[in-house]
Amino acid sequence: MNIKKIGVIGAGTMGTGIAQVAGTSGFEVLLNDVNNELLERSLKTMDKSLSKLKKKGKIEEDKDAVLGRIETTTSLSDLKKVDFVVEAVYEDLGVKKDVLQKVDELLDSEVIMVSNTSSISITRLAALTRRPDKFMGMHFMNPVPLMVLVELIKGISTSQETFDQTKSLAEALGKAPVEAHDFPGFISNRILMPMINEAVFSLMEGVGTIEDIDRVMKLGMGHPMGPFTLADLIGLDVCLEIMEVLYEGFKDPKYRPCPLLQKKVDAGHLGRKSGKGFYDYSS
Ligand code: NAD
Repeated sequence: MNIKKIGVIGAGTMGTGIAQVAGTSGFEVLLNDVNNELLERSLKTMDKSLSKLKKKGKIEEDKDAVLGRIETTTSLSDLKKVDFVVEAVYEDLGVKKDVLQKVDELLDSEVIMVSNTSSISITRLAALTRRPDKFMGMHFMNPVPLMVLVELIKGISTSQETFDQTKSLAEALGKAPVEAHDFPGFISNRILMPMINEAVFSLMEGVGTIEDIDRVMKLGMGHPMGPFTLADLIGLDVCLEIMEVLYEGFKDPKYRPCPLLQKKVDAGHLGRKSGKGFYDYSS
């Protein structure tokens, strides 16, 4: 593997975590976002997280050594110096198209580009570039520094060599890669989101209370948290969006979003981030 410097586009929740993990694993990182405030916020988040991990003995180096490998830039054109690109901008096809096409123009032809998309077809994203054989999905889980799983998704044109190199990189980042095929929701969201949606249907139909449904899944099924606690953490708007992607993608009514989920999103009850979802976080 000849990857020394990794470019990460988008310094939000996921890009920040990916940059941190790459830095911790000894790679040089070039992190890009649209302005310096966002990049500074991202570095602060990493600083805090690295301090915590060091205190717990989960990383060997001091945080400054890791942060010393992470450069930031607001200029996409600086990415021409990197050996591998991870795109983690908004989940919006228009924004992704713009970024991917600009970066594709800059990079050497052998450089691999991956997208961290949760729901957009990898084949469709790959076809926007001039390197569909060197493009694939690399779906990290949130929070990236703590979650070991990475889903690797080949588009229809992705070469085996691209897949193998990306898999080696995932392992070098300390992650456990799993291959998923390019269908809506891949494996993780295909199974997780209908479970959350079904919990909301069960609540709507009065089968159980929020607390009892969560308790059943925790104490009876061994899940670390119940579906409502998890949905509030993910964001109810994100859950709804992914259900819509599954529904549209498969045209199967079994994926129809629960009307109560839609109602919560309409009310602005989005979960932890808005102070209220299925539970109340205002205090
Ligand atoms: P986010 O909103 O936290 O961050 C997105 C970042 O992209 C923002 O900082 C934004 O300023 C930046 N950005 C937007 N346009 C840009 C541009 N033109 N150039 C550079 N940067 C730009 O989003 P997120 O939650 O980190 O999600 C990013 C991707 O990861 C999405 O595709 C999402 O589906 C996927 N994902 C998210 C999660 C999650 O739990 N949040 C989990 C897995 C995958």
